[in-house]
Amino acid sequence: MKTILSCPICTQEIYLGHRFCIHCGARLDPLAALKLSIQGIGHPEFPFLDPVYSPGSRIPCRDFSGFIAECLQANDTQTVARLFRYLIAGNPGLGVGDDWASDLVGEVSALPLSQYMQTGYSLVIHEIKALLILAGLGGGPRQFHITDGIPDHIARALSCHHITWLPAIAELHEKVNRFIRKMRREAPFWKEFPLIKKGRLLNFSLPESELRTLLENFSPSVRTLALSITEDFRWSIPKSISYGNRRFGINPEEAAAVIEITDLCEHPDAPPEILLKAWERDRFIQHCNNLGIETKSSWSKSRLLDELLQWNPELIEQSVRRESAVRLNPKYIEDMKRIKDHARFIEDHIKALISL
Ligand SMILES: [Zn+2]
Repeated sequence: MKTILSCPICTQEIYLGHRFCIHCGARLDPLAALKLSIQGIGHPEFPFLDPVYSPGSRIPCRDFSGFIAECLQANDTQTVARLFRYLIAGNPGLGVGDDWASDLVGEVSALPLSQYMQTGYSLVIHEIKALLILAGLGGGPRQFHITDGIPDHIARALSCHHITWLPAIAELHEKVNRFIRKMRREAPFWKEFPLIKKGRLLNFSLPESELRTLLENFSPSVRTLALSITEDFRWSIPKSISYGNRRFGINPEEAAAVIEITDLCEHPDAPPEILLKAWERDRFIQHCNNLGIETKSSWSKSRLLDELLQWNPELIEQSVRRESAVRLNPKYIEDMKRIKDHARFIEDHIKALISL
């Protein structure tokens, strides 16, 4: 999926690869264009960070992995390092400053991944590097990123891609295991941490499928989220986004909208009243204000809902859809099982790449 940006001069839509705006001719700074394209969704002081979480937790306000991958493909590590510095600006690290941002970006972008894997589509390698860079937002040496759900997140994000693993990856499996054995001697946390099983099969056959193509068109974070939607899912899409997803950057509203225009999920019919549970009173008031409805402080949530239903039934219909539980479209159940198996299969290989 190509990242769509806004030209900082004329605000028209542009793509990252453009050096100059195709509409007004202005010279483009990719980061300035990215910043404009996320206007209003980020933190008021830290525009690339989530407005809800504390800036110190370094939660991006959306999935920047596509942007980072495209920059890496264009050999523009400087822009990636600048973005990373913005992402850690609320908490650069005690006494160390933000110099480590460039070091991390430089190190990951130079990893010789093609010695260990091949993909039919060159952007995939850059996508993996982008995810390894975002994993670095948690701080700490890279070897430690084999914990904390990071390999699982990355594996799910990559599970729709055909990847051929090369025999050399076995050396990296051994390297991960040496690290785990060493940590087992030093810290109780690692005692139960599983070793990578040696002699495991290198490759997994992933047949072409409609679902695979659908997932490929999502951003990596939306793919990870899509893999958590099951046949008996009990949550709405925005509500099902975990903290683990958030750490790599995902905007719940955008993610829900992206999934909703596909046929990935089905919505069982839900009545407008589900909004009474899903929304705080402020949310009703805000919608009323936007529509110019005068509200009274004595009005209950159901009174506010009645007003909104009268004034803008489409808004309520859309919101009910957004807030209601979804389930996986039955036609994708079989293929989804295969893709999830693939995600579990590549998890150890991801640990290997992390330890590189
Ligand atoms: Zn322009």
